[in-house]
Amino acid sequence: MSTDARSTPTSHSTPRPGPPFDLVLFGGTGDLAMRKLLPALMRRYMDGWITPGSRVLALARTRHTTEAYRALAQAACRQHLGADFREDRWDGFAALLSYAPLDATASADYAGLATLLGARPGVPRLFFLSTAPDLFAAICRELAAAGIVTPESRIMLEKPLGEDAASARRINETVGAIAGERQIYRIDHYLGKETVQNLLALRFGNALFEPLWRRGQVRHVQITVAEQLGVESRGEFYDRTGALRDMVQNHLLQLLCILAMEPPATSAADAVRDEKLKVLRALRPIGDAEALIKTVRGQYRPGVVGASRAGGYLEEPGVAGDSRTETFVALKAEIDTWRWAGVPFYLRTGKRLHEHVAEIVVTFEQVPHSIFEGPFSSQLPNRLVIRLQPDECITLRILAKSPGEAMRLKPVDLALDLGESFKGRPLEAYERLLGDAILGNLTLFMRRDEVDAAWNWIDPIRAAWDADEQGPRPYAAGSWGPAASSALIARDGFAWYDEL
Ligand code: NAP
Repeated sequence: MSTDARSTPTSHSTPRPGPPFDLVLFGGTGDLAMRKLLPALMRRYMDGWITPGSRVLALARTRHTTEAYRALAQAACRQHLGADFREDRWDGFAALLSYAPLDATASADYAGLATLLGARPGVPRLFFLSTAPDLFAAICRELAAAGIVTPESRIMLEKPLGEDAASARRINETVGAIAGERQIYRIDHYLGKETVQNLLALRFGNALFEPLWRRGQVRHVQITVAEQLGVESRGEFYDRTGALRDMVQNHLLQLLCILAMEPPATSAADAVRDEKLKVLRALRPIGDAEALIKTVRGQYRPGVVGASRAGGYLEEPGVAGDSRTETFVALKAEIDTWRWAGVPFYLRTGKRLHEHVAEIVVTFEQVPHSIFEGPFSSQLPNRLVIRLQPDECITLRILAKSPGEAMRLKPVDLALDLGESFKGRPLEAYERLLGDAILGNLTLFMRRDEVDAAWNWIDPIRAAWDADEQGPRPYAAGSWGPAASSALIARDGFAWYDEL
């Protein structure tokens, strides 16, 4: 972290080509495949990381030829890579892609899949299940029956991993029946973000922060993931899910784990995941009456987001007219460990909020005694702001003397701008995660016991809400959520970062 003008940008190391692989993409025509996965693969191909001999086989029910599928993929890559799309590299990338129609529930279709894949000993075989989770059981059963799951196979799963502890258990058991835990890659794409990995580097690559990273030094922590978008075309799915399950159970709790975990002995997958699990298990349960004090849920009403009018949640297509699904959650989490006892972690996420932003704010204790006068003499604590969206940067706010005769302090930001500090292009989340799965590196994927522990903490909150007659509090689209969210944090004498 430096504001030193003399510091020179450091080059990203040139990527060495990765090993050849076979990627079988269930749901190959879907939104995730077209918007994220294929563009991510093309980027890695353009970087020279994906080597000839690798194959991507897309599957879905729609009857496309490989040529027609490549045309769809090209349009998607062109759209989502924008200026980075290189026409001259398309043919080479397209040659890796093929398509086969397959109904995931039809046993007969899997014989053809086995023939297409053939035997490639030593080549990692990845099955990316980019379909609705209710197809996971059929896909796993049929893959196993067709004898396609080899010891080199890996199964990649997207969220949602269930809707509660019981359904998550069923999914994990289904997948666990055909593959060992070390073959299962559960994605939380927030973990693939460069800034999240930089948080690990910041914490465990520098001696500076670790002594401060605890009660007595940290006053409180905020994690905000705010979206301006509404539910878009996912109204039906979202109405069954809500913000607690869609965002808090996975993304926000994973960020909390990275932030709060003890230093792992190594960066090996299980060393890191063991420490994350301990955080999840140390979360103080929130249930019954406590849930109504320590959590706030909201649902958006019509309003103005940016410069545009936005309708309310209840008017969204696919949403029940009397829905009680929350589109906003704010809560106070507490971690019962020696390191974090007494340090509140405020989590907040929602749709149709004022800004599109994801950030973590670590607020440190104030100085015990100020020797300076003036407005910022002592009230302004140091803050570390880790921003994940829309841009990725890490900022440390300190107080410095402002020029002039008087000894007046003003806040100044020391900013680590990743784009400026390093030459080259950081990997986007899915590029990173696909690459790690191909390499067999599980560190940035969730282990089954983490998923279970997260649901075990979430389920009592959900149950308390279901038993509460009040339902979610309304908030205007374009605001920062219901007023009760500000009250939640104000009760402890703090304010959300955007309210300061
Ligand atoms: P989607 O757009 O609805 O795509 C579903 C895909 O599954 C399509 O390719 C569909 O193609 C295929 N499919 C449906 N039924 C099938 C069957 N019986 N046999 C074979 N293929 C079948 O869904 P998505 O948005 O891409 O999401 C995929 C998964 O990722 C879901 O679990 C979702 O929750 C998760 N996810 C998505 C996003 C995102 O940004 N989209 C983000 C996070 C997680 P056909 O109709 O041609 O069969």
